[in-house]
Amino acid sequence: MPELPELEVVCEVLQRRVVGQRIEGVQILPPGGPIVVRDLTHQGFAAVLIGALIRSVARRGKFISFHIQADGTPLYLAINPKLTGRLQLAGPTAKRRAKTHVVFHLENGQQVRYIDQKQMGQLYLVHDLQTVPGYAEMGPEPLDISLEDFRERLKPYRGEIKGVLTRGEFVAGIGNAYADEILWVARLHPYRKRTQLSAVEVERLYTAMRATLLEAVDRVRAAMGENIDEKPRDFFAVHMKTGSPCPRCGAPISLVGANQRITNFCRTCQPGD
Ligand SMILES: [Zn+2]
Repeated sequence: MPELPELEVVCEVLQRRVVGQRIEGVQILPPGGPIVVRDLTHQGFAAVLIGALIRSVARRGKFISFHIQADGTPLYLAINPKLTGRLQLAGPTAKRRAKTHVVFHLENGQQVRYIDQKQMGQLYLVHDLQTVPGYAEMGPEPLDISLEDFRERLKPYRGEIKGVLTRGEFVAGIGNAYADEILWVARLHPYRKRTQLSAVEVERLYTAMRATLLEAVDRVRAAMGENIDEKPRDFFAVHMKTGSPCPRCGAPISLVGANQRITNFCRTCQPGD
């Protein structure tokens, strides 16, 4: 699942490459295209977008949104890639990958393609971003929140700290992978209850969250270049590193869970109780 650092860099690249371009064509490729496209304007997804101008691109939580102008009416294309979706920038002759569901043709010949192995993501066309399901409920950006706000927002949650970190209503943009990385930096066991954390540990968590995400944005930017469909994660300390030595203490990294919900951590650096 792309999370804040990847989507932040995807957004930066799109800002450079597509802002100011007009959309000349939209292809919704069956069978997946009609599944991922959600036209909440009810005016026709392609019909509205063809000829429209991309004014800006922004990221909020795990959404990338294009601010579009067509006939003077503000419009937004909000993309939530969920677990399996990716955007790709491609030249007109680049071979189309399997599971490409939507292609936007820009006036300069470039294409923005939406690829999704399991058609889990969504592309919403709306007049108001707040009407996108899940958008209005998002908590603040983790890099915008103060320590005091972080403490205050934590209070209503009583469960396992990893589960809290990944809740978009608490802070937006942190998923399974970066939660593991943040908790390793903070030296906190992922299954400790929020109610068990001391004030010092909460501050450590806050500091680790900021440091981990900021460093990751830099690393992803360096590794991704313009290849926005990639998800560079070879710099991770614990996530997907089961059995590898912990970079801090050398103990083998532990694994709990399965499939998309795995948790990796170091039992030595992140003791349980
Ligand atoms: Zn360790």
